[in-house]
Amino acid sequence: MNKQHILGFFDDLVRTPVFLFLCAMFLCGAAAGGLTGLRAGEGDGAAVLSGLLAELPAHVVQSTLCALIWVLLPLVCAFLRPRELLLSAVAAARGFVLAMTVAVSVGEGSVLIIGAGGLGSPAALYLAAAGVGHIGLVDGDVVDMSNLQRQIIHTTARVGAPKVESAATAIRALNPDVTVDTYYELVDASNIAGLIEPYDLVIDATDNFAAKFLINDACVLAGKPYIHAGVVGFAGQVMTVIPGEGPCYRCIFRDLPAAGEIPTCKEAGVLGAVVGVIGSLEATEAVKLIAGVGEPLVARMLTVDALTMNIRRVPLPKHVPDCPVCGEQPTITAIDPANYIQPACAI
Ligand SMILES: [Zn+2]
Repeated sequence: MNKQHILGFFDDLVRTPVFLFLCAMFLCGAAAGGLTGLRAGEGDGAAVLSGLLAELPAHVVQSTLCALIWVLLPLVCAFLRPRELLLSAVAAARGFVLAMTVAVSVGEGSVLIIGAGGLGSPAALYLAAAGVGHIGLVDGDVVDMSNLQRQIIHTTARVGAPKVESAATAIRALNPDVTVDTYYELVDASNIAGLIEPYDLVIDATDNFAAKFLINDACVLAGKPYIHAGVVGFAGQVMTVIPGEGPCYRCIFRDLPAAGEIPTCKEAGVLGAVVGVIGSLEATEAVKLIAGVGEPLVARMLTVDALTMNIRRVPLPKHVPDCPVCGEQPTITAIDPANYIQPACAI
């Protein structure tokens, strides 16, 4: 509140009935003091003067203090902004309740993270830190020195170790209360159904289109929610798929791109920090789903362009009747390995 606001406040104040009432109170106080002094004098001129001198100042001081309190009270309120304080307190209480809800709920949750690389690293770390009770890790690769600029769950000392074991070591060091199951294998058509079955939800942290379509189809067929994400270059995207409540990945992208239609990650390059942002968003969505708080990214695709820092939520159609897997007449009713062939690129 600057000088103009204060002057404006008093300018408004003198126009209010409240202020006139306060002035009247002040005058009443002075009159009361005067009458008391007159009565004390009992008609004697010197005694009246003496009574006025004795009573009037005290009453004027009292009424002045009273008036000051009435004037200062709204001014103090204007400074403290009680409505905003109340709203802040309500927001803080709401945040506390949400935090407690998340803290109590996540321990019962189980999440399968498919891919222990750039996306899986932050996702696994944040889920472990949040206290998610059961985390599964699927990856058939080993840690390479070239991975370390973006796959932050691994360390130089663990180069050559299976990524799932390296990640499990980091998770256990961070939160020993988390149960970690590792699957040192590449996800494919033969094992996907068995891998996702024990878990509440799945995080797609893979680096290739074949795996993304495979995860989508398996999760939709199993009715299991999952969180999709992808990163190319400086751009990333996140979408949550809850079968029956919104579109799936195949509703939007329909089929794998043909070889040569999209650049590989090596051609496009991947910025490690962008993968970290997108993987963290996946963990956020997972915690929300487990705790049942907030609004998941269902029927919306969050896109992040790190070059411009444009972050958008792109609305998606809620229902795509001709989707091959979740449409009204699906053509994909089982996992056929022939539908998921794509050269991989390393994120
Ligand atoms: Zn669909």
